[in-house]
Amino acid sequence: MVAAHRIVALIVAVLPLAAQAVKVRLADKGIVRVNLEEYVGWVLAGEAGGMKSDEALKAMAVVIRTYARANQTRHLAQGFNYCETTHCQDARVGAVTTRLRSAVDATEGVILWSNGRPATVFYTGHCGGRTAAASEIWPTARRAYLPSQEDTYCLSAGRNPWTAKLAWTDLSRILGLPGLQEMEVQSRTASGRALSLRTNRGLVSAERLHLLVGRDMGWNFMRSRNYEVEPAEKYAIFRGFGTGHGVGLCQIGAEQRGKAGFKWDQILQAYFPGTRAGISAQDIQWQVLRGERVDVWSAGAPGDETLPLKADKALAEAERLTGLKVAKRVVVRVYPNVSTYRDTTGESGKTAAVTRGRVIHMQPRTADALRHEMIHVVLGLNSRTPLALWLDEGLADYLTGGSTYPAERAKVDALVRKNSLQWVLDDREQIK
Ligand SMILES: [Zn+2]
Ligand SMILES: [Zn+2]
Repeated sequence: MVAAHRIVALIVAVLPLAAQAVKVRLADKGIVRVNLEEYVGWVLAGEAGGMKSDEALKAMAVVIRTYARANQTRHLAQGFNYCETTHCQDARVGAVTTRLRSAVDATEGVILWSNGRPATVFYTGHCGGRTAAASEIWPTARRAYLPSQEDTYCLSAGRNPWTAKLAWTDLSRILGLPGLQEMEVQSRTASGRALSLRTNRGLVSAERLHLLVGRDMGWNFMRSRNYEVEPAEKYAIFRGFGTGHGVGLCQIGAEQRGKAGFKWDQILQAYFPGTRAGISAQDIQWQVLRGERVDVWSAGAPGDETLPLKADKALAEAERLTGLKVAKRVVVRVYPNVSTYRDTTGESGKTAAVTRGRVIHMQPRTADALRHEMIHVVLGLNSRTPLALWLDEGLADYLTGGSTYPAERAKVDALVRKNSLQWVLDDREQIK
């Protein structure tokens, strides 16, 4: 008895995606190329170096990394990814202590996800007891996980009051409105931040005032939009509390939560409800196992080496069942765990696998689903336009004799009894 089958599985490549390289422009050294984790350490030093709680630092590392991922194209036209100022994130190259480094290492590669995409995140110095919804500050940044919510934790460290005294003459100059001498808050956002100001020269937007004063006097002067204006003879006196725009993670609140025993992922959950912390499929060290007509991307789980053979068999079976052919190579990606599968595909995690074009995305240990998924590949590649979900699933069930989608299967049974499969694929405008 000869060996039952040829071994065609062969490791052809280890894709080195472990750490992404980024380019940072430094004032003294010019553009330097470092890995993303190194840069996250620099920013942690610049933006959160004073934090005492290790868990809060880890939460910040995740937020910084997520922000960096989302904003990596900002300076692309200039030939780098990030500047070292608060325009991107404040990066302090020489200030990465062992403590900061271990907060980065403990969360290596982890970013926040929402429905299979990296989340849009922000952080603020001190929200003043209520965070601002993203949509209050930036109308296009509306996100369910960036709501306005109460933060009792930062308040336990005080309201962080501040006073900014601005001469009417300066205010007149900065706003380009000569003769200013009266100002009061006219309206506020849902979280209580100034939205518009009434003046003797008409209405002024609080956002515009904030930007112009920040550019002229520095960003530490008018520290938030949580304020009242008290008019005096020569000055407008702004009495406020909190620091920053108030959106997303409140750094003082995160620090207090860390001290109260929250873990870093619980801190993130509190400020970005509904998101999930996880690593990106980009960061998995994929091995490509080559079959005859199928490439299996494996994260190295034991048993994966049998998958190319199983996948080739499933593909041949799908071609036999449909009477259709596939000319392109098929890719099967087997994720190491449910979370990377969920993060990358945006699927709920209840499905074993999902097929997109000639790529099958699978959870680990779901080889049984291969035959069903290969049917989707064959149908998809032989169909001019995407199949409706009911038709796609109904056909896969019908052809494999499955019963995952009984209602869809029944509709397809009736259809295919009268028509050829090719007709079903080609004349779908007639199928309702
Ligand atoms: Zn920048
Ligand atoms: Zn807060």
